Amino acid sequence: MEETQKQGMLYLCATPIGNLSDITGRVLETLRNVDIIAAEDTRNSIKLLNHYQIKVPLTSYHEYNKYDKARELVDRMQNGASVALVTDAGTPSISDPGEVLTNMCHDAGIKVTSLPGPCALITALSLSGFSARRFVFEGFLPSDGKTRREVIGDLMNETRTTIIYEAPHHLKGTLFELYENIGDRNIAICRELTKKFEEVKRMRLLEAVEYYNEHEPKGEFVLILEGRSRRTIKEEQEKDWADTDINEHMKLYEEMGYDRMEAMKKVAADRGVSKRDVYRDLIKKDSVQEQ
Ligand code: SAM
Repeated sequence: MEETQKQGMLYLCATPIGNLSDITGRVLETLRNVDIIAAEDTRNSIKLLNHYQIKVPLTSYHEYNKYDKARELVDRMQNGASVALVTDAGTPSISDPGEVLTNMCHDAGIKVTSLPGPCALITALSLSGFSARRFVFEGFLPSDGKTRREVIGDLMNETRTTIIYEAPHHLKGTLFELYENIGDRNIAICRELTKKFEEVKRMRLLEAVEYYNEHEPKGEFVLILEGRSRRTIKEEQEKDWADTDINEHMKLYEEMGYDRMEAMKKVAADRGVSKRDVYRDLIKKDSVQEQ
């Protein structure tokens, strides 16, 4: 029952990403007791609610009404209603419109709580076997060409494990784009998590491109890219510097205002050699030029 005096609150409820049993007791209890359930796709959520015999009024809250509907829901919460938000699958706000409603509630001073549960990115990361000590979640890569190129460009030297969501009809294109721009890398392709045909394929990016050229992607996917090792990046940078003329390299720092000794120190660090090596190379170059 909606109360007019008391302020309501928002419950962010994580729901299954495939297997209907993956729902917490707390989420079920909350869904049974709130005044309204706001659902991203009411047809989808009805299946879940029917399965657990939950009969609470549903209202739709999705990408295309997220601002107007959030204002309406905030208004109802200010008038005492308790609202549960469930999105299509998984944890609200993770690559879905939940964040708008959550943000508006905070701004309006409405209490928000999150009931943890399934989330595709965490499920895939734990399954991948790649380092989960430091990771970055990209969600869906941007569709706008320039921003997309920038984001993919940044992945080139990303040392953290990277998690990407992708739709099946874009998978082949994205794998190819990643391979073309960041080179070959270990990837774990996690498909249909928690469902009957769940699978994780760990391979090189090039192998993945070849595999999906032969096999049409079906189902839902999370891509986990292994981060680049710092050592490889450093070795490549050192190699690039080693190919640069040592006098040009020195000039670069001297023109920045470093004195000769400081410039030598910087050049030595860039090339991964000692200051004495830099000094020796400079002398060698000078004597060759004098001859
Ligand atoms: N809020 C959700 C969560 O907590 O993970 C994500 C919603 S986002 C709109 C949907 C994307 O999540 C899919 O395109 C897919 O990349 C990923 N996803 C969701 N369920 C999945 C599953 N069972 N297996 C693999 N990926 C899944």
